[in-house]
Amino acid sequence: MKLNVDLSSLWARVHQMGAEVTDFDIGTVWQDGDIEFDDELESGIDVDIEDLTSEEGILSVKGRQVILFIPDHGFKVEKALLDGSEGNKFHVADCTKLDEMRRKNSFEERYKITNNFSGEFPIYGHGANKQFLEGTAGLNVCKLCLNHLNYQGSANATVSERNEIVNQFDIEEFFSTYSSLFRKLPKQYASLAKKGYSEDWESVSADIRKKSNYVCQYCSVDLKEAKRLLHVHHRNREKSDNSPQNLIALCADCHRKEPFHGHMFIKHEDMLTINRLRGEQNVYANCDWNTVKRKADLSLHGVLNHCEKKGYTVPEVGYLLNVPDRTSPLLLELAWLQRKFGIVLSDPVEVAGWTILSLEEALSFFGKNKKSTTR
Ligand SMILES: [Zn+2]
Ligand SMILES: [Zn+2]
Repeated sequence: MKLNVDLSSLWARVHQMGAEVTDFDIGTVWQDGDIEFDDELESGIDVDIEDLTSEEGILSVKGRQVILFIPDHGFKVEKALLDGSEGNKFHVADCTKLDEMRRKNSFEERYKITNNFSGEFPIYGHGANKQFLEGTAGLNVCKLCLNHLNYQGSANATVSERNEIVNQFDIEEFFSTYSSLFRKLPKQYASLAKKGYSEDWESVSADIRKKSNYVCQYCSVDLKEAKRLLHVHHRNREKSDNSPQNLIALCADCHRKEPFHGHMFIKHEDMLTINRLRGEQNVYANCDWNTVKRKADLSLHGVLNHCEKKGYTVPEVGYLLNVPDRTSPLLLELAWLQRKFGIVLSDPVEVAGWTILSLEEALSFFGKNKKSTTR
């Protein structure tokens, strides 16, 4: 992964501070001194192709996940203002369309980036009488981007299923799916995260977590050494209903995979910690596809969907591979042990006898590979 700044010491401090914090310490995540940039990003910033990077195939600027859109709609503006689906598609991934524009050097069209969740984009252009028109439009996401990531199984979906994924596309849900790949979370999230909790929530939640012995009630991972990663979930989704039967202790990962929790973010380091502990505690053994999806990072679901559709065997999740010359074992997010094939959410490492791919490499590998009988 491309990261311009080394934040490890900051993160170490955040972790120390967060040790006794309950559910959300997200506010500390984006306040890293570049608040001005985050403010601007929320409303939209002009971007140069050179500044745009890709994090495992997902568009990124300065360590932040971003969306790319074209405000200038020319003569299409009238239609697009009436119906956003008539407007320019916005991009979320390093799709083939962006590739094509890079090759043709046709990137001078004025692009903007944003990480705003609203789905409403500021657009402008000229109407039939050449008058200047501007407003906001609910633009559609680019299908090529969705296929590139196999987002929600888009690459393997039928035309009508794919249209449905486009129609239902929610930016916040998309961001949260890949949140563990990014070091800086959207500013907007900080204000959303604390909404709706009762005033005594901290003590209620601390109590439930203690009673659970810091073990996730779904995946059974023991979080005694990372207590703040144990959340308390409201089963009926009513954050003010703290009756005991409504509360259950879940690890941050199981929590965000609960239905209707598509908007919960998890930091990369936290996901690594949960998966490391799951691996060390051998929480999962011999699982099926549903269990694999339950425990794997959401950003891996595109790859998992490809593998399942194409008949591969079920991989191990969070496998710790001992590598000579490395002080700590290498965490393979997904591993096919017999084939010595693994996927990492970090820079791939050379390990003799093993094939180790990044997420983006794996998406392209499994996306292209038609069918395999060997695995
Ligand atoms: Zn695209
Ligand atoms: Zn769990």
